[in-house]
Amino acid sequence: MMQQLDMNSEAFKTELEKTEKFTDKVCESKGWVYGPIDDVNEGVIMGLARHKMLYGKRFCPCFMVEQDPEKEGKFKSTDDRICPCKPAIEHEIPEQGICHCQIFCTPEYKENKLKEIEEQAKVKAAGN
Ligand code: SF4
Repeated sequence: MMQQLDMNSEAFKTELEKTEKFTDKVCESKGWVYGPIDDVNEGVIMGLARHKMLYGKRFCPCFMVEQDPEKEGKFKSTDDRICPCKPAIEHEIPEQGICHCQIFCTPEYKENKLKEIEEQAKVKAAGN
């Protein structure tokens, strides 16, 4: 069953602030930057805060979290994704430049993507 969480509560706001600090630190320590789309980053941070409150760990918001059949009262995520996850560190970011949820990427990836977005906007504007 989906657990409910009051996203307007002080407790959630506090957790959200902690999670923002956490993602800042992840960027700093790994040499990553936030992905090129701010709305995506905000959504992922909210999802991480939500999972921390519901399940006690920052499980990836883009993967299912379920009861751990081996540990009573504990949870686990599909693919064992706890942020910053192993698949992002070992494969996604080195190979594709960005993690599955698109919150963390390399500076090069971001630069290229922002240029691409700018070009697309110019083409669109020229077409109008
Ligand atoms: S894909 Fe991995 S690094 Fe990216 S938000 Fe999810 S858990 Fe964190």
